[in-house]
Amino acid sequence: MNSWATTDRRALLHFSESTLETFCRYVQVSDTDCEAGGLLLGSVHGVHMIIEQATTPTTWDKRFRYLFERMPFGHETIALARWTASHGIVRYLGEWHTHPEDDPHPSDLDISEWRRLSAKRRDGRPMLAVIVGRKSLYAELVPNLGRGPVFAPVE
Ligand SMILES: [Zn+2]
Repeated sequence: MNSWATTDRRALLHFSESTLETFCRYVQVSDTDCEAGGLLLGSVHGVHMIIEQATTPTTWDKRFRYLFERMPFGHETIALARWTASHGIVRYLGEWHTHPEDDPHPSDLDISEWRRLSAKRRDGRPMLAVIVGRKSLYAELVPNLGRGPVFAPVE
C-alpha cells in the first residue's frame, strides 16, 4: 500500500512507512471509534509526491463518529517546523481523515471542503485528499474546480 498511481499512471504517490503506521493507528475498528485526521506533509518531484508524515489529531480537533473537524492549532505548527527544518522541501500537500467504512468514499461535505482547501493553496497545486477506511484508502488529487484524478495501489 506504499505506492499509488493515477489510473493514467502519469502521477505517482508514495506513502512513507511512518505515514501508513499513523493511518493504521486511527482506523475506526470498533463501533465507537471517532473519526481522526490531519495534514499530509511531503515533497514534490514534478507531478509525483512523497508523503513523509501525517499529523495526528490534537486536543482542539472536533472528533465524532461520522465527522472530523480539524482545527488549525498544532497541525500548522508541525507543518511549519518540518518546512523550516527541511529548508522548504517537506511541505503541506493535503489532508487525511478516517471513515467508519471498509472502502471509503468522500461525502458531499468532504468534496466541498476539499475544493475550498485546494483553492486556498498558495502554490496553486491541487490538494491531495486521503480517506482512511477500515480496509482500504481513498486518494484523490483535488483541483480547485471539479473532480481530480483518483489514485490506485500500484502493487
Ligand atoms: Zn469524510
